[in-house]
Amino acid sequence: MKITKIRLTMLPPGSMPVCAYATITFDDQLAIHDLRIIRKDERLFVAMPNRKRTRPCHKCQTPHTIPSRFCSNCGNSLRSGSEHTANSRTHVDIAHPLTAEFRAMIEREILDSYHSNLANGTDLSKAEVFDNV
Ligand SMILES: [Zn+2]
Repeated sequence: MKITKIRLTMLPPGSMPVCAYATITFDDQLAIHDLRIIRKDERLFVAMPNRKRTRPCHKCQTPHTIPSRFCSNCGNSLRSGSEHTANSRTHVDIAHPLTAEFRAMIEREILDSYHSNLANGTDLSKAEVFDNV
């Protein structure tokens, strides 16, 4: 499977920690949106798209994001005692590569596109979109 298109939304210089958003297309058939180029400790890496986890209020079933402490609908306490277990992650991946090699390939191609956009010296004072590949 090959990346046939990379679309980057470059954020203004100084945007931290997200430097750009990416959409990648595989074999002109499948697009994955909302990958993020993140700068952490002077290193760039690519984060896969994810979403916040939710859980329902025990009383009224209104869904809430995991760190919420009280129901916004009925005011019920959302503490259940299970939030300190291993399954207390606040976000889950929507899509992710299954091998380290494929992850490295995706990251390399996206970061190459990002660096070539920077090298082109385009004015990034506002978010801009670039197509690569
Ligand atoms: Zn409730």
